[in-house]
Amino acid sequence: QDGPAAPSGGAVLDRFSEAVSGFRDDLTALDQLVGDGDFGDNLLGGVRRAVSRNGARGGGMEALARAFLDDVGGTSGPLFGLLFQRLSTVSWPDDGAPDAGSAAEAASAGLAAVQRVGGAEVGDSTLVDALAPAADALGAAARDGADAPFTAAAEAAARGAAGTADLAPRRGRASYVGERAMGVPDPGALGVALLFTALADVYEP
Ligand code: ADP
Ligand code: MG
Ligand code: MG
Repeated sequence: QDGPAAPSGGAVLDRFSEAVSGFRDDLTALDQLVGDGDFGDNLLGGVRRAVSRNGARGGGMEALARAFLDDVGGTSGPLFGLLFQRLSTVSWPDDGAPDAGSAAEAASAGLAAVQRVGGAEVGDSTLVDALAPAADALGAAARDGADAPFTAAAEAAARGAAGTADLAPRRGRASYVGERAMGVPDPGALGVALLFTALADVYEP
């Protein structure tokens, strides 16, 4: 008999985990500029915990939800946890494509949960500024029957995240930094962009 397989979270979680590992230092550096410098470790810690639970079910979204809701600190922990919890209602197959309409509904439900708990609006320079356009783009692409809905969502998330550099933060620790945060993109928004980019990489390579 072979030894135990290396922990895997399935295609989506594995791809997201790789991306977060690669950007951990950048996310940390950004959170040092606008916050307390722990966002890179909060995000990577949650992802590693989900992977170590071998949480391949549901594309790893259930394992991510549990890890972020139960174990990740910071403001971002529970907010990402709520997003993953809503996304875990969708089937994320390792082979084949998820249903874009269901994914769009789940992303919108995740956005609503994040906004209900965190109170941020679009334009406050938070992860909402990546998640809202991603959910919108996914919904529009699903309605239009577009060929690459997750790519559209990833591009919208990345644009939204980059755009936070031009916004004055009005939520979280970054709001204390005020003017000094201008020019710096929000790390949480970049984390959301990494998630949608991972979905696009897996399903629309
Ligand atoms: P903390 O500021 O508690 O250290 P983290 O570093 O884990 O939290 O996460 C910071 C990220 O959380 C920010 O970059 C931002 O995207 C997100 N964030 C902070 N406050 C809110 C909020 N009220 N609503 C939505 N997102 C928020
Ligand atoms: Mg922080
Ligand atoms: Mg913190």
